[in-house]
Amino acid sequence: MVAVDQAIAVAVIGAKGRMGSAVVKAVQAAPDLRLADALDVGDPLSSLPADAVQVAVDFTVPSAAEDNVHQLIDLGVNAVVGTSGWDGPALERVRRHLAEAREVGVVIAPNFALGAVLAMHFAAQAAPFFESAEVIELHHPDKLDAPSGTARHTAAAVAAARAAAGLGAAPDATDPDRSEPGARGAAIDGVHVHSVRLRGLVAHEEILLGNPGEYLTIRHDSLDRVSFMPGVLLAVRQVSTRPGLTVGLEPLLNLS
Ligand code: NAP
Repeated sequence: MVAVDQAIAVAVIGAKGRMGSAVVKAVQAAPDLRLADALDVGDPLSSLPADAVQVAVDFTVPSAAEDNVHQLIDLGVNAVVGTSGWDGPALERVRRHLAEAREVGVVIAPNFALGAVLAMHFAAQAAPFFESAEVIELHHPDKLDAPSGTARHTAAAVAAARAAAGLGAAPDATDPDRSEPGARGAAIDGVHVHSVRLRGLVAHEEILLGNPGEYLTIRHDSLDRVSFMPGVLLAVRQVSTRPGLTVGLEPLLNLS
């Protein structure tokens, strides 16, 4: 049993949301963690008892998360961020800010489900062996952003693996004059990503890899938000030992 004063003090931001409330329960159930604060919309981060919080977990909305992270860096509080919507320039702004705050760690992961991280990893490993690659992500219809952060991350990893292997663009004869706009989805680093929003779904992803006469599907399904909690808690336990910015759970799992 970990003594209360040795437990990692955790604040949850977005604590009333679907993910945030699951994180609150997971922190309360972990013997080595202690819930120090639970904030939601309307609670300013300046009200956070920064000297009594070691790690803040952010599951809010894309429009708030970046500002929250910069405020946490200023407060000297390590951050674990699951909120989606991050792009390259936003990550770069966090990286630059962290260069001035050498003790603080930030982990931003597009997906905390271990199976989803492995699916992305396997997709990048397989990508050099296939002519074609596309990604389909499927989520509940209350999700604000599209495509999902996971799909962006997956497509970028697949594109990087293809480029490193010297593969050019995937074959695609689509004629824009004969197509509805958007029918081919979004192109992330040249890899097409399709977003489905359907009541009943939670979070799902398929990576399709094709060659003449065969195709490989790598699929991951999160059936319950509890699937994200082992990854969130892993990041909470490790973030203070990783100053600077860590993107994705892969380094924490020794996958990269
Ligand atoms: P949600 O149920 O809408 O929860 C978001 C919560 O944050 C709500 O309670 C919201 O309040 C609150 N909030 C909004 N702005 C805030 C602010 N400035 N400060 C504090 N709290 C604020 O959404 P969710 O399903 O939990 O998802 C949250 C985020 O996590 C989304 O971006 C989603 O894509 C992402 N996500 C990531 C993973 C992963 O593994 N990385 C997994 C699942 C979801 P109101 O409702 O009053 O606005």
